[in-house]
Amino acid sequence: MSDFGEIVNKEKLDNYVSVQLGLRYMVNGLQDYVTKQLHSKQTELKQKCALVHCTLNCSSIFGESTKKWCATCKYWKSELLNLYEQCHSPYPFRIKWNKINSISFPQSLEEIAKVFIKDFHAVRHSVLLDLGALMSLIRNATLFDISSQTIDEILHIRNNCCAHNYLVELHEAERNICLDVFIRFLKIPEIICTDSGKNALNRIETLHQSHGLPERILQQPDGRRALEEIRNEHHNGDMDQNSIYSDENLQERLDEITKILNERRKYHFYLGPSPKTMKHSVIQLIFLICFTYWYLSSTPSKESLQGTY
Ligand SMILES: [Zn+2]
Repeated sequence: MSDFGEIVNKEKLDNYVSVQLGLRYMVNGLQDYVTKQLHSKQTELKQKCALVHCTLNCSSIFGESTKKWCATCKYWKSELLNLYEQCHSPYPFRIKWNKINSISFPQSLEEIAKVFIKDFHAVRHSVLLDLGALMSLIRNATLFDISSQTIDEILHIRNNCCAHNYLVELHEAERNICLDVFIRFLKIPEIICTDSGKNALNRIETLHQSHGLPERILQQPDGRRALEEIRNEHHNGDMDQNSIYSDENLQERLDEITKILNERRKYHFYLGPSPKTMKHSVIQLIFLICFTYWYLSSTPSKESLQGTY
């Protein structure tokens, strides 16, 4: 499909945007794998724990010390803590129990995830939709069998190629190295077997094979959303807690790409069949089939004609 880049500067800018898009596709791609693992542990603990429901939210009220915690919250804390301690994380941290709602462990995957996420309170939105939080979760819980080195590679790209990249430009070779890392990560068997993992791999491979930004995937709802997120975050100056740049060229380029996509979207919709046109075609087809059937069944066969004479 057509590329948006026409001059050298724009190509490098677009390489940068490609890697930003890749990071967002990574977050999307990990959703099924992460929620499946969390959900299966939550179900297992719910089945084992036959205690009454907490009515106090012990962690938030009493903090780290479990002296006053109810039996249910104590049980959940001890089981989740085991998953953290057995992980032997290279970057251990103190879990902020007073900022976690233990009352919600039986219902909320997010609340369980927070036990394993360093600085989860700094995440503005859902912790499961934040790349840094997801990497922390995967690194610090035994539920996930992914090496720390693999996680470090992703964070290195996020920090060095995107958040701290003052030029907001990347050479094509740099872009390809980043996308190769994403592709390797998504091809981990437990991830590639999920729908979200497959979809993200398809998107990132399309980015990899394209010279510039492929309009084909940017016109898809997840592509539009990813681009809008980059644009809004850059526009609002809150790309990420590690981000410390602001570049007018990037903002202009993101606005320009969005404008082109909006203009071409109308064209694509015009070209594609509308639901009304589809309905009309189906009616015509049914009519044709009925007419053919009626014609064939009402025409006398050769044998019956011969018998008449
Ligand atoms: Zn409790």
